[in-house]
Amino acid sequence: MATAAIISLEETRQALAQTRARHQLHAYLDHWLDSLEAHMPDDTPSLEELTQAVFAMRQALTGKITEALVEQRHARALRQRTMPCPNCQRILPARPAPPRTVHTLVGEVSLSRPYFYCLHCQQGFSPLDEALQLSERRKQWDVQKAGARLAAEVPFETAQELFAELTGLSLSDHTVHEVAGELSHELGVLEVSPTAAEITHRVAEMAAGKTWRPVLVLAIDGAFVPTRPEQAKGQAAGRRRTRAKRAQWQGEWKEAKGFRFYLVERERIVHLLSWYQVCRDEEVGAALRRVQEAGLIPEDQVRLCVIGDGAKWIWNQVKVLFPAAVQILDYYHCREHVHKVGGLQFGDDAVKEQEWVEAMMARLFWGYVDWAIEGLEALQPRHSEAAEEIRKLIGFLRNSAGRLNYRAARKGGYPIGSGGIEAANKCISHVRLKRSGAWWYVEKANHMLALRCAIYNGTFESVFEAYKRKALQRHRGNPR
Ligand SMILES: [Zn+2]
Repeated sequence: MATAAIISLEETRQALAQTRARHQLHAYLDHWLDSLEAHMPDDTPSLEELTQAVFAMRQALTGKITEALVEQRHARALRQRTMPCPNCQRILPARPAPPRTVHTLVGEVSLSRPYFYCLHCQQGFSPLDEALQLSERRKQWDVQKAGARLAAEVPFETAQELFAELTGLSLSDHTVHEVAGELSHELGVLEVSPTAAEITHRVAEMAAGKTWRPVLVLAIDGAFVPTRPEQAKGQAAGRRRTRAKRAQWQGEWKEAKGFRFYLVERERIVHLLSWYQVCRDEEVGAALRRVQEAGLIPEDQVRLCVIGDGAKWIWNQVKVLFPAAVQILDYYHCREHVHKVGGLQFGDDAVKEQEWVEAMMARLFWGYVDWAIEGLEALQPRHSEAAEEIRKLIGFLRNSAGRLNYRAARKGGYPIGSGGIEAANKCISHVRLKRSGAWWYVEKANHMLALRCAIYNGTFESVFEAYKRKALQRHRGNPR
């Protein structure tokens, strides 16, 4: 009986709080409409003029609505007069504290919430902040996410400009940098990969209604990224570097190495996962191992094939990690090698050069590697440089013999070129990292690459959620 009475009293109180909040909001809306009228252009404004006036003022209204919602939904936390210290259980009285104003995509939200301080533990607590899962930054999660997403697509300054234009809010260059940095910090291949269930689902979709298991390609490749040396840091303290300062260090193109897993069916490509970093070969191998050990690749449901260039480390890794995979040496990479010899040997006769290259490639395409090698051995090198290239090509073909059967690969529905990974390179690396005048510190380039992989892999949302969860946990363990 007594409990029922208490509940109904609490309910009445809540209902009252709701009514009060509504009244306040209606009153504010009247006030807002008045100021909107005052800002309205005269005569017969165009729709654009009208929307501009509303756009300029809408944040004030939506921010206020949010404040009212907070008051409504968190009435109890806002009314809280005492709280036990989470550490020592002493009862703490609410202290007067200035309201905290946070920035969100719907405008500024001002929060007048109770604050508690334990003198014994020397720690302060704002239970409402925790209930609302506020970010420690003034800019809240929605703003951070939008800023980071933009910064992953365009240079930081442009991101900031676009953000201001599209939202009517400001976002400092500094915040964009910081959030993008923190978000991408410590991201590894598994953090940016879709889950095993998501990958299996895409494989099952591709396999539906077919007798053959779908072809899953692992393409391994690299793309060059313009980097700046670490010592450039000390030289350029200012945010805007002068031309003279810039000239003191030498930029260097470094290879971002990585891989892409994708499903193919004739011309159709279904992306599964990509990972790129400016790193050593062993690190690419280690990332591949992590993917394999996490069980992300459903090897029993696909026909796995690996496409790569002649780099030995690739094939060594593949042999260990995916021993059953069909191995294919990228046809276009192979053709480049053959072309080089053709150019040196028949350079002065374009027709003859072309004929020779085509004949070589035809033999290789049909799987007659021995025949191709015999042809090379029979050549009379024109000069020592040609002799050297011929020798290298023979070695290259001998080493790659098992990966050159292009016709058989084609018949089996396997791709013979790594067009798939070149497209990924372009989307992940080139469009963001290769911009005129942009030279990246390796660490920053890798952060950006990780973020771009997350977007490309469709995991940006989950990467952001993980960042948010971590920040909230850190804050909980270390409140103000
Ligand atoms: Zn305490």
